[in-house]
Amino acid sequence: MPHKILKSAHYIELGSYQYWPVLVPRGIRLYTYEQIPLFLRENPYITDGYRAYLPSRLCIKSLFILSNETVNIWSHLLGFFLFFSLGLYDMTTVLPASGASREDYVIYSIGLFCFQVCMLCSVGYHLFSCHRSEKTSRRWVALDYTGISIGILGCYVPGVFYAFYCNNYWRQVYLITVLAMILAVFFAQIHPNYLTKQWRRLRSAIFCSVAAYGVIPTIHWVWLSGGFGAELIQAFIPRVLMVYLIAAAAFVFYISKVPERYFPGQLNYLGSSHQLWHVLVVLVFYCWHQSIVPAQTTCSSSKDCRASPLWDLRL
Ligand SMILES: [Zn+2]
Repeated sequence: MPHKILKSAHYIELGSYQYWPVLVPRGIRLYTYEQIPLFLRENPYITDGYRAYLPSRLCIKSLFILSNETVNIWSHLLGFFLFFSLGLYDMTTVLPASGASREDYVIYSIGLFCFQVCMLCSVGYHLFSCHRSEKTSRRWVALDYTGISIGILGCYVPGVFYAFYCNNYWRQVYLITVLAMILAVFFAQIHPNYLTKQWRRLRSAIFCSVAAYGVIPTIHWVWLSGGFGAELIQAFIPRVLMVYLIAAAAFVFYISKVPERYFPGQLNYLGSSHQLWHVLVVLVFYCWHQSIVPAQTTCSSSKDCRASPLWDLRL
């Protein structure tokens, strides 16, 4: 068990040759990759700046020190405040101005609530993964994965709701399939092997499939709305593609561990792949939300669905 050290200046490497002194509170010290317990060893290219062996109280206190998790924690803590503020703004300004129905309020709340839960689960994981108990640390890993599923659900619910606004049958089909898929992922997490390193590829494949499934309702929506030439599709498809592109980039950073793979030890505190993944996840949710706002306005302003190209095609 490592000994506690008094408040002292600890020199960290930030960039290639610069060493910055940081104040480390009593009881917290930073470790190298070789010094941390096995269950924390995920990324050998992040060589230093690890917190470890901490009780809950010091995990929380470590929110205010510079470690290799600081950017991960704060990026999603700020993300949480962003979606919380967006929620308040939507409920008090955007929705009343667009003559939104009660359903719109519910759908907006579900979407933004899911994003906030996703952000908080991630903050919790990055804050408490360094807990001295492996069991506690693993519980937070599981919660982080659950948060990602909930975040994906937060994209699907408003997306499907407004894409199939005038087609109740397909709206229900896609919402039920998505819910079933997310529930299946939750149950898969109960499997004792789910969080092991051996199942890492399988975990990634599951999340990719859940996100990629969205291509099916998207193509269906394009087809039902009159193809790529239709005005509605031309207005919204670039937004959908952009969100998918950012999500794909985020995932590539996440699994490839680029750029720190090429600069081992130099991106311990700033610029690592997981930090890029975090920022891009916030961007995906934000862009998606910004696409839902005009979709809801369009749907609310043309309340009569008989004018919609989707009306004739409904089952
Ligand atoms: Zn993370």
